[in-house]
Amino acid sequence: MTERLLAHIQAELKEIRAAGLYKAERLIDSPQGVEITLEGGRKVLNFCANNYLGLAGHPRVIEAAHRALDRWGYGMASVRFICGTQTIHRKLEKTIAEFLHCEDAILYAACFDANGGIFEPFFGPEDAIISDALNHASLIDGIRLTKARRYVYAHGDLADLEAKLQEAKDARFRAIVTDGVFSMDGDYAPLPGIVELARRYDAVVIVDDSHATGFVGPTGRGTAEKFGLLGQIDFITGTLGKALGGSMGGFVAGPAALIEYLRQRSRPYLFSNSLSPVIVGTALEIFSWLSETTELRDRLEENTRYFRQRMTEAGFDIKPGDHPIVPIMLYDAPLAHRFADALLEEGIYVIGFSYPVVPKGQARIRVQLSAAHTREHIDKAVEAFTTVGQRLGLLKKPVS
Ligand SMILES: *Cc1c(COP(=O)(O)O)cnc(C)c1O
Repeated sequence: MTERLLAHIQAELKEIRAAGLYKAERLIDSPQGVEITLEGGRKVLNFCANNYLGLAGHPRVIEAAHRALDRWGYGMASVRFICGTQTIHRKLEKTIAEFLHCEDAILYAACFDANGGIFEPFFGPEDAIISDALNHASLIDGIRLTKARRYVYAHGDLADLEAKLQEAKDARFRAIVTDGVFSMDGDYAPLPGIVELARRYDAVVIVDDSHATGFVGPTGRGTAEKFGLLGQIDFITGTLGKALGGSMGGFVAGPAALIEYLRQRSRPYLFSNSLSPVIVGTALEIFSWLSETTELRDRLEENTRYFRQRMTEAGFDIKPGDHPIVPIMLYDAPLAHRFADALLEEGIYVIGFSYPVVPKGQARIRVQLSAAHTREHIDKAVEAFTTVGQRLGLLKKPVS
């Protein structure tokens, strides 16, 4: 038996490698940040982290983590309802709720767990869940854990969403589920249209704002704020593992009674360990910072605008938008991977994305800006892109 499984999986691994889909992991020998050291000592500039606000290695954040460790200890060795809830856990939940203009919030070990735990308590066979075709894997898995009828609408397509709402008219409850920002294109869910349809068809709206909380919208409240819909989204799920410090942790924010019910019934909450007090205490400091000033998200916005403008001027084909996820379209998969390797040689750390992560023929390099990038970092990246682009024949060489 073991022999057969082993042989089977070894063949699968070989196939993954042969198809060029093998995910090799590069080893980093420094804290996360804009300037990182790779194993072996090479220093490179990081342009592919979800470290949007530059907090992952920020001195103020590290100091807050030390303080939290000393004051609250390392871990809780318990789930929340036995002896895993400290005053700071509740304080962070209330802080997140207030930040997002929701009534209450509940913490999870990760947003993957938040999304895995939000559907099954509320929705059963009488209900319908209608999900954007490009939703994150954790939403798809969370929906799979229910016995609800499942509908998938074409990405961002309100007409198709309405057609699915029509089909689901006889359901007891209807839920519309979407990422706030989609990670491969950096595009936004059409929230105003979604909220309008939800009202018309009496549906609950669930938005996963993992790539938005902390920096999208004028004060960083996320996609809802960007569209003037703060307080009008039923549930917002999110992560502490991206802009909000980059460690780990997730949450669901929403109506108080429904959050209360999740504490009774949500399995990843009930049967998984309490979030480390180190993370909780540090997150409180981060939310307090983000409520004091918008300087970090403002700098990120300016960095994004500058990089997008310079790359366009350099002749690259980038997906339009204003999100710090900037897809540099190369279309051809081997080219995208070769391009990323050549950029690393130039000291710029980015990753090529190809099928099945993005559709066939849509290969790209996904750049992610950070508030911690300086003008010089961005200039260096654009120059490296230009050098490699010319070398690989993608950009015309300047006539001299
Ligand atoms: C990253 C991400 C998650 C997972 O978040 P974790 O906290 O790392 O589990 C979930 N949803 C979306 C949209 C994400 O981008």
